[in-house]
Amino acid sequence: MRDLHKHKGMRQKLVNELARKGINNKKVINAIYNVPRHYFLDDAFDEWAYRDVAFPIEAEQTISQPYTVAYQSQLLDVQQGDLVLEVGTGSGYQACILAEMGAKVYTIERQKSLYDKTSSLLNRIGYGNIRTLHGDGYLGAERFAPFDKIIVTAGATSIPNMLFDQLSINGKMVIPVGKNGSQTMLEIIKTDVDKFDLKRRGGFKFVPFLEGVN
Ligand code: SAH
Repeated sequence: MRDLHKHKGMRQKLVNELARKGINNKKVINAIYNVPRHYFLDDAFDEWAYRDVAFPIEAEQTISQPYTVAYQSQLLDVQQGDLVLEVGTGSGYQACILAEMGAKVYTIERQKSLYDKTSSLLNRIGYGNIRTLHGDGYLGAERFAPFDKIIVTAGATSIPNMLFDQLSINGKMVIPVGKNGSQTMLEIIKTDVDKFDLKRRGGFKFVPFLEGVN
């Protein structure tokens, strides 16, 4: 794995494009500039790594479009030292962006093959501090709760109770929720054990949030 001058150039163009599309959070921009996205795709797709598009990885999953990663990361508003749970590890790219923003990251993936592959990749590229978990994201990660922030990167049909329970008071969850394959990004602030404020953000299309492990 090599991060060359040309890759940095492509990343600079990508962050410029994201800034034009409304991403103005400095931590997000720096993180996207710092994380070599081509490490998460096959070598043959170096150029594709820096286009603002989603891309198939394996096991019928995708690495989210850079704009989507940036958008969710900006809404999540990570502060240094925040304990963050990501549901849907996938390629591991989003987890690295959160780590770069200063979060202590736990990430959970339901597919064992993807969990294995991504765990070893994260170690190899210097993100071994990200804790990867194999399990059903609907259940969250009780052992490590409460989390300051929770980010779901698969399309849910409702807000999973167990994830809400594992959020600290004043914590925030960013989750795409919807039916028939398209979702609205929800920004949820937990104001009390059983209360929250909800803001509806943009429309997106995520792969489905499925129950159980595989
Ligand atoms: N965040 C990823 C993109 C994830 S795509 C990235 O940066 O590349 C969505 C991922 O969510 C897929 O890998 C899928 O297997 C996973 N997923 C779907 N349902 C899940 C569940 N219940 N628990 C954990 N992971 C789940």
